[in-house]
Amino acid sequence: MTPGPALLFQLDLRTLLLMSVAMSGGMSMVMYSLHRSFRGEVRGLNRWSLGLLCVVAGGVSFALNGQLPGVWPGKAALLAANAFLFWGVGLSMLGTQEFFGRRPSWGLFHGIWLVGMLLTAWWMLVQPHLGARIAAFSLAAFIFYSVQSWLAWREGVRHFSYCFFAVLVTAQALTVLARMFTALTVDAVTEDVLVNGALVNVFMALASFMTLMLAVAFLMMAMRRLQGILEERSTHDPLTGVLNRRGFDIFYNKQRVQLGRDGRPLSLMSIDLDHFKAINDRYGHVVGDRVLVQIANIISQALRESDYVARFGGEEFVVLLPDAEVPRAMMVAERIREALRTGWDDQLPPCTVSIGIGTHLSREETLDGLMDRTDAALYRAKENGRDRVELAAAP
Ligand code: GH3
Ligand code: MG
Ligand code: MG
Repeated sequence: MTPGPALLFQLDLRTLLLMSVAMSGGMSMVMYSLHRSFRGEVRGLNRWSLGLLCVVAGGVSFALNGQLPGVWPGKAALLAANAFLFWGVGLSMLGTQEFFGRRPSWGLFHGIWLVGMLLTAWWMLVQPHLGARIAAFSLAAFIFYSVQSWLAWREGVRHFSYCFFAVLVTAQALTVLARMFTALTVDAVTEDVLVNGALVNVFMALASFMTLMLAVAFLMMAMRRLQGILEERSTHDPLTGVLNRRGFDIFYNKQRVQLGRDGRPLSLMSIDLDHFKAINDRYGHVVGDRVLVQIANIISQALRESDYVARFGGEEFVVLLPDAEVPRAMMVAERIREALRTGWDDQLPPCTVSIGIGTHLSREETLDGLMDRTDAALYRAKENGRDRVELAAAP
């Protein structure tokens, strides 16, 4: 046998525990720095970070059990370890609740901690019984993990990271439940948890491994959420919430490929507010912004689910109408103008739009070509007196 594997197998449980505790400390730092950067976007990372720190403190206390006689008696070390571990697992529950947009159950958290610690102290100092102590801790952990499991299955989105977390936290809940039953049935009265037979070793190793894996899974979910937020930000206009130029290009290219393959048409609408500068000058920029939001809402409501609206900066909107020829585009344009007259917010200054409509007539025509034609139609609408719709000339 080579020295490497032999050494690995000789690692005792205490060393393995300390290693995973150190890794938990590292994970805690990663989570905290993510929390500092994205506290408004992803919630719960701070609780998870603190929870992992508690696990670290708990692990260190366990390891110190019996190591510093006189300075830090074994029972104090074990009590501290239990307190930190209750906190650690409980905080992960609070963090997961916040991550999924729920109010954290502080009452449950404090209640379980208090009852758990009282029982632990009782079975350690008054009527020593290791099995009962482990069972009490396992039951508390089971509750904390079950809440997370329920949330993960209920609120998780369809993505590997969310499924991974849901499976892990469920497995963890079942593991601590199994731990509870074995603790009650196996006669475990010795004080040193770290050397208490094979079964304990398996559970301890499993618990520290699972704690780390759960932290990894939670981080993966957080990253996935961040990815979604950043994607949304890079493709949407922050003021109106509709697509921006970049988002529009992505959807256009997708649609173009699909529609071109099936030989189906695609229409474009350029919409520009009339005399918007005057609205800004007269009522101020804030009202101008509200007008833009209102216009974006009205346009969005006039569209089908397969249509897209984008704001191309300033007060110009572009609408993509897949599978639509001129008559449908005309109908949508008139619907928008009608909604501006009848569905307008009375608190805002009235507003009209000029619209240019263009349709892809050949597969060879590029987006820029179609845009140029549609913009030319829009300018004609402006020239011809505004508040009207004009069709693009053939390329
Ligand atoms: P026209 O009928 O010819 O289109 O005239 P207009 O005044 O609408 O067009 P013009 O291009 O002269 O002015 C556009 C104005 O839009 C100028 C600018 O101050 C305003 N604007 C651009 N972006 C924003 C924005 O994000 N918020 C607000 N409130 N105003 C904006
Ligand atoms: Mg304008
Ligand atoms: Mg303009």
